Amino acid sequence: MTQPRMRAPAGRESPCSVATLFDADPSTALKHHFGFDAFRPLQREIVDDVLGGRDVFALLPTGGGKSLCFQLPAVMGSGLTIVVSPLIALMKDQVDALTASGIPATYLNSTLDWSDARARLRGLEAGAYRLLYLAPERLALPHALDDLQRLGVARLAIDEAHCISEWGHDFRPDYRRLATLRTAFPGIPVLALTATATERVRRDIVTLLGLRDPRCYVASFDRPNLLYRVLPKGDTFATLLRFVRERSKESGIVYVASRRQAESLSDKLRAAGIAALPYHAGLEPAARAYNQERFRRDDARVMCATIAFGMGIDKPNVRYVVHYDLPKNLEGYYQETGRAGRDGLPADCLLFYSAADVAKQLAFIDEKEERERAHALAGLRLMRHYAETADCRRSVLLGHFGEMLERQPCDGCDNCRTPRLRYDGTVPAQKFLSNVVRVRAAGGFSVGLHHLVDVLIGKATQNVLAWNHDALTTFGIGKDVARDRWLAIGRELVRLGLLRQTPGLRSTLELTDSGRRTLLERATVLMTSGPQALGGGKKRASTTSRAQNGEGDGDGGIDGALFEELRTVRRRVADERDVPAYVIFPDTALRAMARDVPANAGELRRIPGVGDKKLADFGETFLAAIAAYRDRAATSRDE
Ligand code: ADP
Ligand code: ZN
Repeated sequence: MTQPRMRAPAGRESPCSVATLFDADPSTALKHHFGFDAFRPLQREIVDDVLGGRDVFALLPTGGGKSLCFQLPAVMGSGLTIVVSPLIALMKDQVDALTASGIPATYLNSTLDWSDARARLRGLEAGAYRLLYLAPERLALPHALDDLQRLGVARLAIDEAHCISEWGHDFRPDYRRLATLRTAFPGIPVLALTATATERVRRDIVTLLGLRDPRCYVASFDRPNLLYRVLPKGDTFATLLRFVRERSKESGIVYVASRRQAESLSDKLRAAGIAALPYHAGLEPAARAYNQERFRRDDARVMCATIAFGMGIDKPNVRYVVHYDLPKNLEGYYQETGRAGRDGLPADCLLFYSAADVAKQLAFIDEKEERERAHALAGLRLMRHYAETADCRRSVLLGHFGEMLERQPCDGCDNCRTPRLRYDGTVPAQKFLSNVVRVRAAGGFSVGLHHLVDVLIGKATQNVLAWNHDALTTFGIGKDVARDRWLAIGRELVRLGLLRQTPGLRSTLELTDSGRRTLLERATVLMTSGPQALGGGKKRASTTSRAQNGEGDGDGGIDGALFEELRTVRRRVADERDVPAYVIFPDTALRAMARDVPANAGELRRIPGVGDKKLADFGETFLAAIAAYRDRAATSRDE
């Protein structure tokens, strides 16, 4: 074969060389093609296995760097890599990004007209590309498999592999066709990638794709660069506005519970001078695509969205995800917050919480079918636990996925950074616990949290009267404390293990052994006060001041003005090429430039994110901008 892509390694000394082949060392190839200095966890192992011809299943969190797991083997190995992805809207971006890195790639999906598709196929037949992004529905076309047979396919990557399973939430019937690919290319290794997979979905992926003795990789779901915080509702909009204004140049997502709210919140933000747009399933597809594009191109800073804004977001520099309302469960919360900080730089996850939100959700759950209810309730209970806990939030989140967090405190959640004040809550605890005992003794049955609190504050509700609970000695002993506070105390006693909550819809509270002992021995009970307001407690300079992943020193030494200047340059270059800014250089690269102030090509190449192709294409422009900035700074110093 004499295809151009089969050339022996082109000299690495020439910065604009096309994709090199048979690169002996993946680390060298990583820097050469993508400009990265180190692999993210498991990337190296996966790349090695894929190059070794093994089937691989990889479960990596969002931002874990899944794309690289097939892109690097695609440039290092011979032959064509087919990438199946359900996200048609993103294919062009991915291909643009690869092209910017000097890697020949193309895509085939329904957005192309017949002649364009034909031309791409001819290019593929001539061996002009290393990667082909393919929409699964293409496989339904006549000749689709025959066409592919002629292309010298060397390996297959299935992105968002969970779409193959009906048990997942993104099931795509077209993904079932992928089994035919396996049959058509029996000898070709398959790499299945996903960020969402329960045990059941994982098994589906392996069997339905027909993976053979696959090596399975499961990365930690910890996202060390994300900071998790919860704030009580009340002045919520004003707090949000302050939060957004403190990050006026950054992009963020604000999740809300309804379409109407997505509209009204974005209106309010716009009225306050913030470039915000709505996104929800009620918008026309064109409007949705337009708003998403504006967000991707940094024209809109804030997306006010329902959870319809989801899988298709691959913007790496989302700096915050705010939940204006309580999510339904922790899985959802993890996925949604996961969209922040894919580039590895610090990002904020903020949840606004009020007990009223729980009540609203309970009302929704009440309307559900019986068999869905228990599941939904359990989910909500955990979500509430996350919002109310005084313990490490990261631990709660990861614990839900069966992962233990080793570093404690995590330094990346409000509770670890500013431990909540504890106070001696022995007296209210005694009142609450003895009330539980009295109520139970009176009627021989347990009751729920709300009823218990009604008795404590002396509220003569229908049930209280019907069950004679107004005659108990504990009736009204908690008048001096507000109802909401008692509800919180009750939930804290559950968290402390002194009370047990029975599962199910009509959940009741019972004393545990430890609760009984505490009551009898009048043991001291330490309780925590509510969460602190934004900006309270230990002062943080800014969201970007945290060291990330143990590397670098955050904002330390970054010239902010130069960074802004470089952003402007990047924006101009991106607009000229009609691509999103991050396709040119990621934020991480610009920050490193603003810190190290490279003066020549050699220094610029040391910046993470600067590969050889980008050095050749954009190096001069950025070096010139840096030099001009330096000159100006020197002049103003001399004056
Ligand atoms: P995922 O699909 O797993 O969410 P992506 O493949 O989109 O993640 O990668 C997320 C971001 O991380 C991208 O901007 C990508 O360029 C960057 N990235 C991937 N691997 C590395 C690495 N080894 N070093 C630095 N950045 C990386
Ligand atoms: Zn923590």
